[in-house]
Amino acid sequence: ANRVFNFSAGPAGLPEPVLQQAQAELLSYGDCGASIMEISHRSEPFKQILDSARNGIRTLLGFGDDFEVLLIQGGSRLQFSMIPMNLASRDQTADYIVTGAWSAKALEEAHRECNVHISWNGTDNGFDRLPGNEALIRSEDPAFAYYCSNETIHGIQFPEAPDYGAAPLVCDASSDFLSRPVDLQRHGLIYACAQKNIGPAGLTVVIIRRDLLERSSDELPGYLNFKSHSAANSMYNTPPTFAIYIMDLVCKWIINEYGGLDSLAKTNREKAELLYSVIDRHAGFYSCHAQTASRSNMNVVFRLPSDELTAAFIEQAADHSLASLAGHRSVGGIRASIYNAMPRAGVEALARFMDDFASTNG
Ligand SMILES: *Cc1c(COP(=O)(O)O)cnc(C)c1O
Repeated sequence: ANRVFNFSAGPAGLPEPVLQQAQAELLSYGDCGASIMEISHRSEPFKQILDSARNGIRTLLGFGDDFEVLLIQGGSRLQFSMIPMNLASRDQTADYIVTGAWSAKALEEAHRECNVHISWNGTDNGFDRLPGNEALIRSEDPAFAYYCSNETIHGIQFPEAPDYGAAPLVCDASSDFLSRPVDLQRHGLIYACAQKNIGPAGLTVVIIRRDLLERSSDELPGYLNFKSHSAANSMYNTPPTFAIYIMDLVCKWIINEYGGLDSLAKTNREKAELLYSVIDRHAGFYSCHAQTASRSNMNVVFRLPSDELTAAFIEQAADHSLASLAGHRSVGGIRASIYNAMPRAGVEALARFMDDFASTNG
């Protein structure tokens, strides 16, 4: 197959060995005589995949039984509502750190479920930076504190989790999940939709501290209650079996290829550094959306001097098999999403192209 280097922000590229294995097993999984898509979610082969997938996440992030891994549908958007529904009562307050498009959308949904307090808001800066701990204005005893570890659209990433004292910290890690180690002990809940870094669309991973499950009210609709998913071992209804199967293969690929998240994180940093160094070398031609200290290792967002040059860049890049580089419509410019599955060779090819393009047109 004639595959391109795919810089799509999501759904995004998957590791080629994962796709190859899925292809090899598509007509018959093991000796099933049927695809994993075609057999019961209560069958022994699928049960093993489900356990393996959840254990893969546990192993990679290194946490124990004090956290539960739930696999839910509805994408990250459903979590924007489910989290305040489950973790706060209507008269409680939740704190939100608003750092970009995704945390702003999460805040909008939270308004419908509980009181909200904005502890920091980057709107006036065009979401080009993240707050230091000293800039956060915390409310008294919030039900939880919410942040987005990597703002996919604006290309800014928290170097580490903000310090929020005793309040359970909730993290939208949709676009940097399993890209680096995370200190889970500082969090109450971390969630990620699969389609950026860990699998196909249709699956969302929610890692929740077990004691927080007690907060969910029995008044909630069954599907929207974390407790139902936990009690049913993430099979409250038919789970997205094929997406879970792919995510399991992705976890195994990370372990085979990198051994763990420390080594993967190092590679991710080096890949990003390659692109940022080209941008800095041609500083009059390329400009980063993010301030230096807030730059994302997953989504490299930058501008060219004009819309004409941006269009030419995208078109000529495509001729070099460098695909899906257009920035989000709300920000414009270029966005190179370089998640776990993007090989170093793809980033090197883009860096060379960027160098050449700036030298020719700058
Ligand atoms: C893509 C994305 C979402 C939205 O995910 P859906 O699965 O489409 O609901 C939310 N947050 C972040 C950080 C994202 O990158």
